[in-house]
Amino acid sequence: MPKAFFIDTSRCTACRGCQVACKEWHQHQAVPTLQRGTHQNPPDFTPYNFKIVRFNEHKIDGKIKWLFFPDQCRHCISPPCKDAADAYVPGAIIQDEATGAVLYTDKTKQLTIDQAQEVRDVCPYAIPVRSEATGMLTKCDWCIDRQRAGMKPACVKTCCTGSMNIGERADMLALANQSLTKLKKTHPEAQLLDEDYLGVIYLIAEPRKLYHEYAEHRERMNPMSRQAFLAMLARPVTRLRG
Ligand code: SF4
Ligand code: SF4
Ligand code: SF4
Repeated sequence: MPKAFFIDTSRCTACRGCQVACKEWHQHQAVPTLQRGTHQNPPDFTPYNFKIVRFNEHKIDGKIKWLFFPDQCRHCISPPCKDAADAYVPGAIIQDEATGAVLYTDKTKQLTIDQAQEVRDVCPYAIPVRSEATGMLTKCDWCIDRQRAGMKPACVKTCCTGSMNIGERADMLALANQSLTKLKKTHPEAQLLDEDYLGVIYLIAEPRKLYHEYAEHRERMNPMSRQAFLAMLARPVTRLRG
């Protein structure tokens, strides 16, 4: 049975426990950054940061509000990054049958810099990053080693607010819809994000455009990539539905 994450951003306190747990589990080195006038750190994904808690600050109904967004790979059900990589190096990106995890293998080193950039460009959420040190494309691996050992992913395990959840896809969809109905009573603009197409289902409380720049990334996507993204959304979801 495919798995899914349900991430309820309305419960997130931006403690960054998930970000740190992800680094710790993967034994990722520290990444030096500069103070840029925000609590978000580092500014974007790196080969050593698969999870980033994004801080978005807005004035809503006359009050300053922080909208937190624990960002990571969505483990798309029909991943466009895999399709793009398959055209050059079959097997560079694989999908785990048991969980639905989209996994980048050592073979991603065989992609040229331009091909790797193409894989990044087709991702609607601007997730993959190429490591200069190893030549590998990197991103969240859904803690597949932990999942295969019957453990929760490190980020889910550490989150104590109920924001991060993992389970069977059908259960997570049900929980997401239940939480959406509840949240809509106080936040009429609340919505789930692309839930039919993704292994990671987000619930947001405010309009989508108020949450970080992946919407802009979509606008910047070259026409071919945008076409691939729209095709992904239009594709029947058959691979891992359940
Ligand atoms: Fe938000 Fe939970 Fe991550 Fe803390 S651990 S930043 S509450 S998702
Ligand atoms: Fe690939 Fe991006 Fe989808 Fe993750 S979110 S599976 S990197 S296309
Ligand atoms: Fe990091 Fe694992 Fe969570 Fe992915 S699932 S963000 S690799 S801790």
